[in-house]
Amino acid sequence: ADPGATTASDVMIHAGKVTKTFGQGAGKVTALDAVSVDIRKNEFFTLLGPSGCGKTTLLRLIAGFELPDGGQILLDGQEIGHLPPYKRPVNTVFQSYALFPHMSVARNIGFGLEMQGRPKSEIKEATDRMLALVQMEHLADRRTDQLSGGQQQRVALARALAPKPKVLLLDEPLSALDLKLRKEMQIELKRLQEETGITFVFVTHDQEEALTMSDRIAVMKSGAILQVGAPKQIYNNPARRFVADFIGDINILDGKLAENGAKVVLPGGASVGALLAEGAARDGRVSVAIRPENMGLTAPDATDAALKGRVSNIVYFGAGHNLHVQLDGGGEVMVRRAQSEAEIGAPVGLTVPDAVQVLVD
Ligand code: ATP
Repeated sequence: ADPGATTASDVMIHAGKVTKTFGQGAGKVTALDAVSVDIRKNEFFTLLGPSGCGKTTLLRLIAGFELPDGGQILLDGQEIGHLPPYKRPVNTVFQSYALFPHMSVARNIGFGLEMQGRPKSEIKEATDRMLALVQMEHLADRRTDQLSGGQQQRVALARALAPKPKVLLLDEPLSALDLKLRKEMQIELKRLQEETGITFVFVTHDQEEALTMSDRIAVMKSGAILQVGAPKQIYNNPARRFVADFIGDINILDGKLAENGAKVVLPGGASVGALLAEGAARDGRVSVAIRPENMGLTAPDATDAALKGRVSNIVYFGAGHNLHVQLDGGGEVMVRRAQSEAEIGAPVGLTVPDAVQVLVD
């Protein structure tokens, strides 16, 4: 059995052919086009994609702020379509934290439970637990308008987690923070998810953020999910051209499949192993993806030189160098090396992995 396979009892959120349109006639927009996905219990799941691809719409459907035009959403095996947002075992953290500025940190955290009419002792116990979880005990009595952005973010998270939802939805919650704090909060969020065991569904258009935090990522484009996988899978084995292009730097070359899809012939004639996505064609012209860090430099006449060209530019970026190489026969690739290893204008050979990813357009 595939250890990565999802069984019904693992699933927290099941979306089946969910469609959502806005507007009518010429102004009609299909925000989600028959989207199906299973989000597992206890996972940090990220919806990643460019602006307008439908990430927020999918989150709002799960929360119940919008209703689908078609398809169904199950939560922990239950149909939730008829439940208003406040009756769903789901909570949302928005980009704007929407805290009550005149109330203390502790009161903000306990507010949801207070609204549910829970006993004082229970609210106090939950608030204390949440204050400890987000490491804000020392600021329990401070008004939230006297907190830094990162502290406000922690309060918003604590408030959303206090009622113990089955699912926490997070819509670009870190985008208002500066880069350094944002990186700290990425680690913090992942820790909170692991400690609470709550299913997190996180929306971002930032691929690095998605790779850092997620157990699995769904890459979206134009109302559709193109690929779902663990960060390493998405990064190393992008199945679609859009996924390869959207995540990290990548070289995309023309290739031709050979030996019934076992090999791919690169420009210049070298033949290497082909990694094919499930259901991909086994012959014909294809695009091939190779990460800049997976290419090496060698002598142009070396037997392991799969590609040949001339160095056209070298860009230093602190942790290393990007060498741009103009290929003999046209096209350019980027090679990432710790040292620059060659001079501009030098003829070079390029090594590639034994097997390379073949993309579906
Ligand atoms: P962003 O990263 O910019 O938030 P997104 O991926 O979250 O984008 P959505 O907000 O889900 O994208 O929007 C998907 C599409 O649906 C877009 O074309 C958007 O303009 C449209 N849309 C979303 N909400 C509405 C609405 N209430 N009325 C009309 N169109 C909408």
